[in-house]
Amino acid sequence: MPYIKVPEDVLLARLAGRWTCRKCGAMYHQLYSPPQQAGVCDRCGGELYQRSDDTPETQQHRIQVYFEQTAPLIDYYRKKGLLVEVDGRFGIDEIQPSCWASCRVMITLKSEHELVLMREAAGSSPRCWLRFRRQWLLA
Ligand SMILES: [Zn+2]
Repeated sequence: MPYIKVPEDVLLARLAGRWTCRKCGAMYHQLYSPPQQAGVCDRCGGELYQRSDDTPETQQHRIQVYFEQTAPLIDYYRKKGLLVEVDGRFGIDEIQPSCWASCRVMITLKSEHELVLMREAAGSSPRCWLRFRRQWLLA
């Protein structure tokens, strides 16, 4: 089971930089995927805004709830020797090999049917790990 571990301050910085297009809903990040022109959507020219629930307080609370709910699971998998910690301070390209490696450990424990579902869920997108994490770490 891959566990992408990110320090809380890094998580906060990532969450705080999110911008959404008012018109088409496209998402941007001021550090990782900034729009060509600040405040303007590349796709449709719409105005970018920060969601009201993206305030530092809300995010802090969201992170806290996440850790509270996930911590028992992390312990459970760690005790079974199935947890592989991946350093999430790095970008998705850097951590992907470790994620795949830990996923291979997981795959050996899955049935054929589950493997098909996993492959479909991952697709060929480099962002597949976001989905993997949602489905299998939080499941
Ligand atoms: Zn847009």
